[in-house]
Amino acid sequence: MGSKNYIHKIASFREIMLERLRANRWKGGWKGESFHYLQGRLLEEVIEVAEAARHRETNKAWVARECADVANIAMMIADITGGLDNKEKKGEKGCQ
Ligand SMILES: [Mg+2]
Repeated sequence: MGSKNYIHKIASFREIMLERLRANRWKGGWKGESFHYLQGRLLEEVIEVAEAARHRETNKAWVARECADVANIAMMIADITGGLDNKEKKGEKGCQ
């Protein structure tokens, strides 16, 4: 697979991740959440992917949304465990 192809896929998936984060903004952030809580949420979201996939013939967008939920929870775990700290500093330069 050429990098051009997956860069477009990542961009599309990122948009869905952001939409899902905005839709769930009312729940508050994740900074105060524990690893164990988020781990449980991650497993719940994986189950939601499986449920959505059962209906993928009629609702492909649902599968994508649930996959984005998984990615968002995984991102939150990476964040609270400090794995994004260095990436944020490097990314800040690119965002200016
Ligand atoms: Mg979900």
